[in-house]
Amino acid sequence: MTIKKEIVIIGGGPAGLAAAIEAAKRDAGVLLIDENKRPGGQLFKQIHKFFGSKAHNAGVRGVDIGKQLLVQTEETGVEIWLDSAAVGIFSEKKVAVLHEGTTVVVQAERILISTGATENALRFKGWTLPGVMGAGAAQTMVNVNRVLPGKRILMVGSGNVGVIVAYQLMQAGANVVGIVEGMDHIGAYGVHAAKIRRAGVPFYLEHTIKEARGREHVKQAVIAQMHGGRIVAGTEEIIDVDAICVAVGLRPLTELAYMAGVYHEFIPELGGFMPLHDENMESSVPGIYIAGDTAGVEEANTAMDEGRLAGIAMAQSLGYLTKEEGEKAKETVRDRLTALRQGPFGERRLHAKERILEKGAKNICQF
Ligand SMILES: Cc1cc2nc3c(=O)[nH]c(=O)nc-3n(C[C@H](O)[C@H](O)[C@H](O)COP(=O)(O)OP(=O)(O)OC[C@H]3O[C@@H](n4cnc5c(N)ncnc54)[C@H](O)[C@@H]3O)c2cc1C
Repeated sequence: MTIKKEIVIIGGGPAGLAAAIEAAKRDAGVLLIDENKRPGGQLFKQIHKFFGSKAHNAGVRGVDIGKQLLVQTEETGVEIWLDSAAVGIFSEKKVAVLHEGTTVVVQAERILISTGATENALRFKGWTLPGVMGAGAAQTMVNVNRVLPGKRILMVGSGNVGVIVAYQLMQAGANVVGIVEGMDHIGAYGVHAAKIRRAGVPFYLEHTIKEARGREHVKQAVIAQMHGGRIVAGTEEIIDVDAICVAVGLRPLTELAYMAGVYHEFIPELGGFMPLHDENMESSVPGIYIAGDTAGVEEANTAMDEGRLAGIAMAQSLGYLTKEEGEKAKETVRDRLTALRQGPFGERRLHAKERILEKGAKNICQF
């Protein structure tokens, strides 16, 4: 069965929802597909308040931003297929979707890929034992399903995800026995790290996890000092745990973009191999757009603004806005994005994004 739609958005996280709202409120026909049972992506795990400017939801919890986006999506009449996974993109912008027990092919005039990111894995002895998991999995367990993954938990990785999830596990009653970090400094924003420090959780800097021990479930973690990227023999410490969470970075989920023939380049600051895009979020394949973590791992506010940009650009390209209206609306969003990418963390990403634009994604390859 093949059906036709003007715009198909794959992934209903903050980027996909924001894009859907912008396009649908200008009367474009939008179908949003998400493999989960409810849209919102990572936002529904984010029970903490955002910081930054008022325009960027400072003081609002991620979960509440998600609820606002869902209301707006409903009001603008976006069609939503949940529990439906896009499994392929083929020629002539056809998207194969597993939907209600069958494969439906949707032919789109414009496609947005906003499938988010996935967690990096870390291989060490015992890494497949039950109780060893990604920090994102632990965050889903505790904040969405209200299940504690363990009572004595070791976090590996001191970036924002590791530190925020560690704090949320503590709020839910777990004892976080330590945060292990290979670098000589904490990766997370100071505001998040300070909360953990105040709670007395030790940071093991220049350390790594060497082994997870246990028979049917993890019972102990062996950590050790690192020097020059190598474990220093004889520095091992054994810590009793019943869960180990690994937070060692995220990488964009770009398989569908690869399949569609989108040109990629290696941009480490944004998480690895990146599908290139232009200033409208359009990829090297005309009519295929990308936004959010798929276009470079950043955070929820940048994901929403990139989604907005893509939504306006898709609607404009379909004739729902004049060139003047479209450019004006997009300029406002671009200014917000530039403001978001200030500061020591943001600036690296701003430069990485500028490199993406300089490489001129347009027409590098044709479908
Ligand atoms: C584990 C984790 C923790 C994070 N913690 C924070 C935090 O605390 N604070 C913060 O600001 N940012 C955090 N981020 C980053 C932030 O959440 C993201 O930048 C933001 O959610 C990205 O939005 P997105 O729409 O691109 O992707 P997501 O929010 O990941 O949404 C992607 C959506 O695509 C759907 N999807 C994926 N593949 C398919 C497919 N083939 N077919 C159909 N649907 C599909 C998924 O179900 C999901 O709903 C975190 C990210 C992760 C992965």
